[in-house]
Amino acid sequence: MKKLITAVFAAVLGLSAINAETKITAPVTGKGTPKYVFVFVGDGMSYPQIQSAAYYAGKDAAGIVDKVKKSENASDSPEMKALSFYQFPVAGSASTYDATSFAPDSASTATSIFTGYKTHSSSINVDITKKIKYRTIAEQLRDQKKYKVGVISTVNLNHATPAATYAHQASRKSNYPIGLELVASNFDYFAGGALMDPQDKNKDKTSIYELAKSAGYKVCFDQKSAGQLKKGDKALVVAETLADSASMSYDNDRKSGEWALRDYVRKGIEVLENKNGFFMMVEGGKVDWACHANDARSSIADTLALSEAVEEAIEFYNKHPKETLIIVTADHETGGLTIGYAGTDYNLFFRTLDGQKISYAKYDSDYVSDYKKNKTDFASVMKDVENLFGLKMPGSEGNDKNGGLVLTDYELGRIKTAYEKTIKKDKSRNQMEYDLYGTYEPLTITITHILNAKSGLGWTSNSHTGLPVPVFALGAGQEEFKGFYDNTEIYKKMANLTKIVKD
Ligand SMILES: [Zn+2]
Repeated sequence: MKKLITAVFAAVLGLSAINAETKITAPVTGKGTPKYVFVFVGDGMSYPQIQSAAYYAGKDAAGIVDKVKKSENASDSPEMKALSFYQFPVAGSASTYDATSFAPDSASTATSIFTGYKTHSSSINVDITKKIKYRTIAEQLRDQKKYKVGVISTVNLNHATPAATYAHQASRKSNYPIGLELVASNFDYFAGGALMDPQDKNKDKTSIYELAKSAGYKVCFDQKSAGQLKKGDKALVVAETLADSASMSYDNDRKSGEWALRDYVRKGIEVLENKNGFFMMVEGGKVDWACHANDARSSIADTLALSEAVEEAIEFYNKHPKETLIIVTADHETGGLTIGYAGTDYNLFFRTLDGQKISYAKYDSDYVSDYKKNKTDFASVMKDVENLFGLKMPGSEGNDKNGGLVLTDYELGRIKTAYEKTIKKDKSRNQMEYDLYGTYEPLTITITHILNAKSGLGWTSNSHTGLPVPVFALGAGQEEFKGFYDNTEIYKKMANLTKIVKD
């Protein structure tokens, strides 16, 4: 409880909880059989996502002022702030390709992580003929070891990654059937974004929420009732504040007092703790969404929120070191993010990103939709751009080179072109426009592209890429996760350690 109060207090003060980093204090032997298994999945979170967050949370010497020359004073040198899981004693890497693609999706990659099999992109826990169903580690631990199971996600609870713990569907888009499987799983704790199509696409079926209630779940739609959940409750918790596509807020849009991912993890531990053990999957699902939209600031915010959620598991580990295993990994990379950009040479300017106060999605919903409705003039739009993203008109005070927030005439021209396309509600894309905007709002993605480029971050795609992902491990059996292996091995290692019999 004290921790919760501290977190809420910190949010009110606008303090970053990363300052309250939880250290591993219990002995780290790696011995023992894991009885409490945490798997954190940063969706779309490969090395560029975690390391850009670590750099952003640290400090860069040059900042946004004209101190480009490397300082001779060591205290002015760049420093990274280690994410919570950087202190884990074991780090490995996993390849992510699936049965049909080197740039796979969350459905197939989560299938690999939770069942040990490769399958088609967009299939969940079925084979490539779509006939054989694969059982997941969560189901096996529930049945064979009487573990309780928790599934937490910042995105919809029947979205691909959480679904891959309990559902078996040829298509990840079968939202209602996936919801039915959620209820049938009898897992103990679901928390995060709202369900997609709870009454099916035609809104003509019994709501999944009603079915969950009938199956004995406490269904909570507000923090007050979620806060009252107790050890042993079976619960389905939907975040009180919902953002784009009924997901949880991006962490950089989260209001004071609004539960962060770590709050749902803390409550989950309380609800799930029992003598047989538990398996908890926690997804930072909006790292992926931010990276699809090429919004580095929001990717960083949600990566830091995942790092903070991991702290809750570390705290649990400190109490149960011989029986706890924590894995932090990802399903694939999204966006082709990299750290370094042609226009900034050998420099990075992470403080430039401080100018961004809002996620791309909230900007779209709260501002751009009005621009389109009211045909807002460009000068007024640029005032918002300065307030919300920090980018200033050419000729403004400040340095316009090497990461400054002052736009060049060329950059302003790009924003103007994108603005016109947005205002016209023109959804057509020639090849150049597709390369520049993907299917996103031209104005918004141009703003984040320019801001990201000024900070030294580059993107190659609005889709997923084939980069390997990190696998960090702490606790009982941690040594298993050393080395470079395929993502299907993550399941096999967890199954070996927990002594699961394949069924
Ligand atoms: Zn994605």
